[in-house]
Amino acid sequence: MQKQALIFDIKRDCSEDGPGIRTTVFFKGCPLSCVWCQNPEGKEKHAELSYNAAACHPEQCGKTCLDVCPENCLSLLDDKVQIDRDVCTSCSKCSEVCPTGALEASGYWIGLDDLLYRVLIDKPFYSSSGGGVTLSGGEVTQQMEFAHHFLKALKQEGIHTAIETSGFFNYRRFSEKLLPWLDLIYFDLKLIDDAESRKYTGQSNRLILENFSKLVADGRVAVIPRVPLIPGITTSEENLQGIADFLAINGVDAATLLPYNPLWSDKAVKLGKMPKYQRNGFMTEQEKEACVKAFQLSHLGKHIVTHKSWISALRSAPQMLRQNLALSAIQSIRF
Ligand code: SF4
Ligand code: SF4
Repeated sequence: MQKQALIFDIKRDCSEDGPGIRTTVFFKGCPLSCVWCQNPEGKEKHAELSYNAAACHPEQCGKTCLDVCPENCLSLLDDKVQIDRDVCTSCSKCSEVCPTGALEASGYWIGLDDLLYRVLIDKPFYSSSGGGVTLSGGEVTQQMEFAHHFLKALKQEGIHTAIETSGFFNYRRFSEKLLPWLDLIYFDLKLIDDAESRKYTGQSNRLILENFSKLVADGRVAVIPRVPLIPGITTSEENLQGIADFLAINGVDAATLLPYNPLWSDKAVKLGKMPKYQRNGFMTEQEKEACVKAFQLSHLGKHIVTHKSWISALRSAPQMLRQNLALSAIQSIRF
């Protein structure tokens, strides 16, 4: 068994990753390379070094980071630290001594017992709110063996479980290892055209669409499709109508559209990555409404409910989420 998991965050008290109060664990490693990736720290399958230049004050700190690096890959230029990332081994020695938090390790290994201890602290809150634990990323199915043992242990504790996935996984392994221990699956559908998918995510969408259809047909676990709205890429009428048609063919009558969040690009810069997609602001109300209209103009999917997470008026939506799937988990989701 994979004894440890590589994760980059554990967020307690989450309210948007499933029903009730939840803890979300973010696993590192993703087979896709979406140009707009909202969690760039989840992409690599190894720990990384994050540097926040605004928090760096070499005139006050004693420049301890420069002294401890065993690879000599740190230097100062104009009072800011330069990192030779080709040489850096992500050993974390510099971040451990940085007094301001300018240098931080992004990603660390954690054992099963330790992770269980960290998430079970909040078990009383899960019980009282109908919440639980969500596995996110990155792509959690890249660490399937560990996730299997983690989910199984959570179910043995009576905890509600959910995952957020790109859908890019081996279905046979997923259905053996994860499906029996899941209550809810958030499944991303990004681009319906295969050439566009290859261009913007680095992978064909064929496996993703096949896996979605198989999970819905299986029907044991509730699947909530989510469409990230990326202006200029996923927001075209053609794409949104195509996804709505695909959902209709699969007998799914509800989806969530996720408005673009521009805050990811700062995280990418701190990791030394140049953002490949530029859009500084949040989406306007008009842009969001246009996406909803495009989605609902689908020939096949006219009856599909679009959960507009930015409009709280859709309080009745959970009643309409019933897809001949497992129902209990999703009825308490707040939109
Ligand atoms: S990264 Fe941290 S330890 Fe290094 S110079 Fe900046 S504040 Fe000082
Ligand atoms: S993580 Fe380790 S190798 Fe990389 S810069 Fe810091 S001390 Fe040097």
